[in-house]
Amino acid sequence: MGEFRLRFAPSPTGYLHIGGLRTALYNHLFTKHNNGKFILRIEDTDQTRFVEGAVENLIDSLNWSGIEHDEGVFIEDGKIVEKGEYGPYIQSKRLDIYKKYVDELVEKGHAYYCFCSKERLDSVREEQKIKGLVPKYDGFCRNVSLEEAKERIQNGEKYVVRLKLPRSQDIKFHDLVRGDITINTDDIDDQVLLKSDGYPTYHMAVVVDDHLMKITHIVRGEEWLPSTPKHIYLYEVFGWEKPTYVHLPTVLNKERKKLSKRHGDVSVEDFRTKGYLPEGLVNYLALVGWTPEDNQEILSMDEMIEKFSFERVAKTGGIFDKDKLDWVNGHY
Ligand code: GLU
Repeated sequence: MGEFRLRFAPSPTGYLHIGGLRTALYNHLFTKHNNGKFILRIEDTDQTRFVEGAVENLIDSLNWSGIEHDEGVFIEDGKIVEKGEYGPYIQSKRLDIYKKYVDELVEKGHAYYCFCSKERLDSVREEQKIKGLVPKYDGFCRNVSLEEAKERIQNGEKYVVRLKLPRSQDIKFHDLVRGDITINTDDIDDQVLLKSDGYPTYHMAVVVDDHLMKITHIVRGEEWLPSTPKHIYLYEVFGWEKPTYVHLPTVLNKERKKLSKRHGDVSVEDFRTKGYLPEGLVNYLALVGWTPEDNQEILSMDEMIEKFSFERVAKTGGIFDKDKLDWVNGHY
């Protein structure tokens, strides 16, 4: 493998969550440990969730934490700028690119136009739930011919584009932390790839961008694990080389529940405004889920870079313990 290229790809929906900072940190540590390149991409294809100022705040939080990226989106003189040869790095500026690949999938029969109304989808889902099934698109538009679909689009009918997953097929991949994973396509939805507003979904955009930006390792939270087979399938039908996957266990509170705003501080901003030192927060967060071989607890960024490996990342959720954070923070 050539140069390692990793990315952190937040959606600008609010302040950077502690779990997000840890994902960025592990990406950063692994990249630097391997002398690779770290890319910051902004995933803003869900325009309904966009929060004004969130991009600026995300980058500011990363800079404050001492996590540096080499390529992608930066802030200079208070303005958002992009640097690197694979841009744009803000997904809303890449709509033509996604459209081109979506069209290619449709032409090759790997995706199809779907005209189902929200009402129809809701009632299908309701029926499935009553039967005790996991709600899933029933494939109603799978067999609409391309000719008919194009005619309906010309007549102004609203549509989305869905992935045409083959039935009853195992999709396999390897995860550096979780090991070998197999998921059957019967358990996966015909994912929407292009929405009716012309924006791609996360699934389409992430695969196209990771490929075009030459990403070698995808390190993200385990909440994305169920999505990975869809992504793997897309890599396969495009004939693209697949990246290495790492899904990180969720950061939990002491009750082993997901860290949530209701139970206290959850964003980098919360800790920053309360006077925590970036070195303390980052040092502590690194240890939520990772243990260096020598069990050292107070580590500088350089020491973490030197010692970091995914072999020593836990498979189960890491506990975020504020007392422990305070103890680590006290060393700075
Ligand atoms: N935009 C996604 C998020 O905010 C990124 C997921 C990924 O890294 O693939 O979580």
